[in-house]
Amino acid sequence: MNQSRGETLRERIHESGLDSLIISKPANLRYLTGFTGDYGFLVIGPSGSTFFTSPLYVEQAHSTISHEVKVINTTGIFKTFSRLHSSFWGITIGYEAEFLTCSESAKLKEVLTAKKLIATKGMVEEFRMVKQPYELDAIQRAQQITEKVFDGVIPFIRDGVCERDLAAEIVYRMLHYGGERPAFDTIVASGPNSSLPHIHPTKRKFKMGDLIIIDMGTIVDGYASDMTRTVVLGKANQKQKKIHTLVLDSQKKAFDKVKSGVTCSFIDKNARNVIAHAGYKKHFIHSLGHGVGLEIHELPLLTAKSKTKLREGMVITLEPGVYIPQWGGVRIEDMVMVTNDGCQRITQTPRTILEI
Ligand code: ZN
Ligand code: ZN
Repeated sequence: MNQSRGETLRERIHESGLDSLIISKPANLRYLTGFTGDYGFLVIGPSGSTFFTSPLYVEQAHSTISHEVKVINTTGIFKTFSRLHSSFWGITIGYEAEFLTCSESAKLKEVLTAKKLIATKGMVEEFRMVKQPYELDAIQRAQQITEKVFDGVIPFIRDGVCERDLAAEIVYRMLHYGGERPAFDTIVASGPNSSLPHIHPTKRKFKMGDLIIIDMGTIVDGYASDMTRTVVLGKANQKQKKIHTLVLDSQKKAFDKVKSGVTCSFIDKNARNVIAHAGYKKHFIHSLGHGVGLEIHELPLLTAKSKTKLREGMVITLEPGVYIPQWGGVRIEDMVMVTNDGCQRITQTPRTILEI
């Protein structure tokens, strides 16, 4: 396990009044141990760190997890838990409430009856917010692939091509250029579909005059990228230009306000006010952005309520949008890294309206 991370987390576990913590969220397992599989349980307890996994993942565990973490291969993880000596656990055991299924948490209660089980939330995620240089490097490489793919697929955006065909071309190129997989289901939303922020690509064919939202990202060394551009097939009309400029102004405002020490809600409010003052408040229907890392959506969340303060090294998206039912939508999304006096751009693709 990454030693300094292990120690800081151990302190945090102790401060929270826990003797041990069971970690089962794959992104947290990867962050702490390097394990790249989907299933396993890391127990950080009084006597050290132990990783439990099934035969399906044991080879992957041995090849990725560092030596000071003991790896236990078992077909019955909960049965194995029940056989461990009491000193392995201590008395109070935390678990990641959002990453155990109902049946797993029932089994845990069954096999650890004499223990006090405490549901925890976000203990590892808090550490993950500030990125180390190697993490930033992976995010940047993922974004470089995303930009190369975006530039390369522009000639495919033509009258008569359907959303799914463009999405398939994007995914193919991501993998071809070195992405491990798409970071999320690629969004290609055209014409009236573009007013639905998270719609899956359909068989709708592009028509001249369409607004087309493309939201895409890939994974490199486990780390995600995330970018949205809204293009117009043909010449943009006055309203399309106006809404695009408005969304861009909102994003520029967010850029201006981002710096270490500022709360996430303050950034969201500033960006939202630009859209509200133009009379489109009810058409900006999601939060401003989110952290990006081993997960596509992670802390900090740039919402109207988040009191989290930005810190140097956090990687966040700024993605205001305006969605008008039956007409269409515009979203522009870039990634930045927070610095002490502002932010450093990660996304390089131009943000001006692209008429194809
Ligand atoms: Zn995003
Ligand atoms: Zn996105």
